[in-house]
Amino acid sequence: MDTNETINKADQVIAKTYKRFPVLMTKGKEATLWDSEGRSYTDFVAGIAVCNLGHAHPGIARALSDQAKKLLHVSNLYYTSPQTELASLLVEKSFADRVFFCNSGAEANEAAIKLARKYFNDKKEENRYTIITMEKSFHGRTMATLSATGQDKIKAGFDPGLEGFEFIPFNNIDALQKKIDPSTCAVLIEPIQGEGGVRCPDPGYFKKVRKICDKTGALLIFDEIQTGMGRTGKLFAYENFGIEPDIMTLAKALANGLPIGAMLAREEIAEAFGPGTHASTFGGTPIVTAASLEVLKTIHKEKIVDHALNMGKYFIKQLNYLKEKHACVEDVRGIGLLLGMKINADGDLIVKKCMEKGFLINSIQGNILRFIPPLIIKKEEIDALISCLDSIL
Ligand SMILES: *Cc1c(COP(=O)(O)O)cnc(C)c1O
Repeated sequence: MDTNETINKADQVIAKTYKRFPVLMTKGKEATLWDSEGRSYTDFVAGIAVCNLGHAHPGIARALSDQAKKLLHVSNLYYTSPQTELASLLVEKSFADRVFFCNSGAEANEAAIKLARKYFNDKKEENRYTIITMEKSFHGRTMATLSATGQDKIKAGFDPGLEGFEFIPFNNIDALQKKIDPSTCAVLIEPIQGEGGVRCPDPGYFKKVRKICDKTGALLIFDEIQTGMGRTGKLFAYENFGIEPDIMTLAKALANGLPIGAMLAREEIAEAFGPGTHASTFGGTPIVTAASLEVLKTIHKEKIVDHALNMGKYFIKQLNYLKEKHACVEDVRGIGLLLGMKINADGDLIVKKCMEKGFLINSIQGNILRFIPPLIIKKEEIDALISCLDSIL
């Protein structure tokens, strides 16, 4: 099938859940993608904050190939080394004591929601099941995570949602203080709202959230599916705020493009997941955990988090330069390499124009451009995007 045939066929046989650009991507290397017509693109989307180490990473290819020759999958009825090593590293590098593996972000959040409820159920506080989440949040597309998501457009048509979720504005301590009570089981929150518009909290916000949770006994769950794995210039975003959550979820960049999710928790809470309480056939399967293990080792070996921090500082400076120069730029925000630029224009149009000039960027909430490149992005690649945006704006 040639390019047009493939695109036409896809439009006939694949569920129509995505509005797609009419390009057929065929290969990548580092921060560059190529389509079937040989056009190249510098990738500031990275599979939506997934391919943090870039495309076709040789170390990951090797780890996958080596593992594929040995063992793709066995049931979690048995032990395997890649899964054990990956969990050990995650525990060593975070606040958590135990890891539950699954296959996506939504599944990781499902696990977190179930664990929080089970924890209080085990303590004979069966009525303590309400979870407070934020307006404009995004936690996934399964029924529970959809119900936890604070965006009506994502929930439209799927009512009734699940019971027991309450919504308050992000970055508003008074609202939390007012809403939280002894029936609150957990506060589920993204450290920086990604899909919601790259919205960052005020300094000190999370210290207050932590205090309020401690006072009422509610668990603090951080959805780090988008912010984790170095994206914000720390391995995990919570490290930016001088606090630790009780439960954290990871997915997206955890295996640089292989499907994986993880839910991490402190021992006392993780206890509530005993044999038979929760499960996943593919969760932590050897082939995927071997790739993820290589990701964590590479992040450490190649000092990827420091690079992300430095490039992030440089990038936001350049975006602010565009803001000074162009009246249509209303706001520049973000942390590390999770950056957003609010414009007084149609975001989709800018995305399309960038694509024509060989740059992939992403538009959210109609008028916010989101920049989430691979963390290995180079200064020259940022410069090239900035001059492209400069000419378009
Ligand atoms: C992407 C994302 C999810 C959902 O992850 P899936 O793997 O698509 O299920 C949940 N929370 C946040 C913050 C995300 O960015």
